[in-house]
Amino acid sequence: MNTRAYYEKIASELTFPSKCLIDGELVSGSGEKFDVINPANGQKITEMNACTVEDVERAQKAARAAFEDGRWSGLDPEERKKILLRYADVIEAHADELAVMESLDSGKPIYDNVNGDLPETINTFRFHAEAIDKLQDDVMPSDPGHVAMAVREPLGVVGAIAPWNFPIQMAAWKIAPVLAAGNCLVIKPASDTPLTTLKLAELALEAGIPAGVMNVVIGSGSVIGNAIATHPDIDAISFTGSTEVGKNLLVLSGQTNAKRVFLEMGGKNPAIVMPDVKDLDHVAEEQVNAVFWNMGENCTSNAKLIVHRDIKDALMEKILEKTKALKVGNPLDPDARQGALINRGHMEKVLEYIEVTKKEGAQLLCGGEQLYAETGGNYVAPTIFDGLTPDMTIYQEEVFGPVLGVVDFETEEEAIALANDTIYGLQASLYTDDLSTAHRVSRALRAGTVSINCYAEGNICTPFGGFKQSGFISRDNSVYANRQYTEMKAIWIQL
Ligand code: NAP
Ligand code: MG
Repeated sequence: MNTRAYYEKIASELTFPSKCLIDGELVSGSGEKFDVINPANGQKITEMNACTVEDVERAQKAARAAFEDGRWSGLDPEERKKILLRYADVIEAHADELAVMESLDSGKPIYDNVNGDLPETINTFRFHAEAIDKLQDDVMPSDPGHVAMAVREPLGVVGAIAPWNFPIQMAAWKIAPVLAAGNCLVIKPASDTPLTTLKLAELALEAGIPAGVMNVVIGSGSVIGNAIATHPDIDAISFTGSTEVGKNLLVLSGQTNAKRVFLEMGGKNPAIVMPDVKDLDHVAEEQVNAVFWNMGENCTSNAKLIVHRDIKDALMEKILEKTKALKVGNPLDPDARQGALINRGHMEKVLEYIEVTKKEGAQLLCGGEQLYAETGGNYVAPTIFDGLTPDMTIYQEEVFGPVLGVVDFETEEEAIALANDTIYGLQASLYTDDLSTAHRVSRALRAGTVSINCYAEGNICTPFGGFKQSGFISRDNSVYANRQYTEMKAIWIQL
């Protein structure tokens, strides 16, 4: 890691992007001005114009025209691969600048952006670029008088709506597989964090992505997101965000053109610790990261710790010690592991959840308050409650902040029931030294990812998505992400 002075120097020299990408041109939105705010001090970073519904219309038409004339889907796969690999290189050449921009815009620690979000963004483009000339179609069994094929074709024009918690990485999780599969795209970042996606728009031109293939628009979800979701000539929508908005996109699809809908939504993820675990230091290390990473603004945050009674005291002692050692601080400080929450309203919502949990009778073990109020930033102390019960609000609702609830259990059946007692099913962690327990319990947990003896979401090769109300059809990452942005066509030939 470089020093804080190094990142602050980059910050002082940054030019902030404000232009959308429509039909190969960088243009200002035609709508009203809005401010982009730094969550670490509440100050304005820059301002820009939102798009209007007419801008979305132009972006959609550009994407449709680009799709129809085959300037992208009709390229030799090797050529498309080369362009996306070049895009990855161009992004990599701007990695530090993007990391700093992301920290300023979202409040995320520079440590995470430099070591996680940026490398993973670049890797996402490289993985999907490489998949372009490696995924194959199928020849199906048929009688000798026929040839039957099942081929994958792009969906067409895909709309994408991204969240603010991993802005550049979530944009990459959509842009890379959508384009790799031969589609054209209209993407909207969250209004809280437009900067790195707008920078990606500039860099797309530098990489030589043809005009119209990738379009970036900005503006509120209720206007610009809605215009994408209800557009009769957009073939699919890929969304990451809250369950409430995601479920409404299904309704809008049904009311309009039955566009394909891929949803990654909320989570309330459990970590179960079995009594046979010997290395409690390791569990504590993983669990503190699992809940407080990204300030808990993470759909896979392990916000519910379900721990066996026999080892609870020993484990909680270690978890509290590590939590107290966690540095909350300015996002540009390389030692900070927790930065600022995304905006004032969200911080107040998190503090309100903390008050409600106290009133409902859980015992506050640490944290519970705002930090560094004098900075104007949205900092909240890492917070732990003991004595959480399934009837309490935060047992069921996603806080999306640095708040852990602890509940204990006696039997394996009880632990599984406690873990599955939720409308969500994104991720679950399980700690055990017993192989049979690991297999048995991981099968019983209703979640898209189960991590054994660690907190992890897998890697770029691993499908990521949710069961129950955490997801709908969608899998990010892996070749499955590429495949979901295609239609399957059967071709039947008489010889
Ligand atoms: P959100 O309000 O659902 O916003 C997500 C995106 O949807 C933003 O771009 C937002 O635009 C847009 N949007 C809002 N209302 C819309 C509408 N009526 N029509 C179309 N688009 C609309 O959620 P958030 O507050 O950004 O993010 C927090 C939530 O996202 C959490 O619940 C978290 O669990 C979930 N999340 C899930 C995953 C996953 O992979 N499953 C990953 C990250 C986050 P504006 O903000 O510009 O209005
Ligand atoms: Mg911001």
